[in-house]
Amino acid sequence: MRFLDKNNLGDDEDWYGNSAAVRCYACGKVFLTSQVLHRKGRACPRCGKCRVMFTKRGVEVSEAADQL
Ligand SMILES: [Zn+2]
Repeated sequence: MRFLDKNNLGDDEDWYGNSAAVRCYACGKVFLTSQVLHRKGRACPRCGKCRVMFTKRGVEVSEAADQL
């Protein structure tokens, strides 16, 4: 599990307002997560192994299995 660093985003990451784009560490797909639309986070739409969620600490990237 890790958090995006807003001041040091990677080439395959973006975070603007209440939306963030992250590359899935499992399959490589870049997908968008919205704080408004995905209140419980969003799993990678291709493989479902990576989950991105807005938390009080910031944008969290973790394994989807953590929530099962
Ligand atoms: Zn994936």
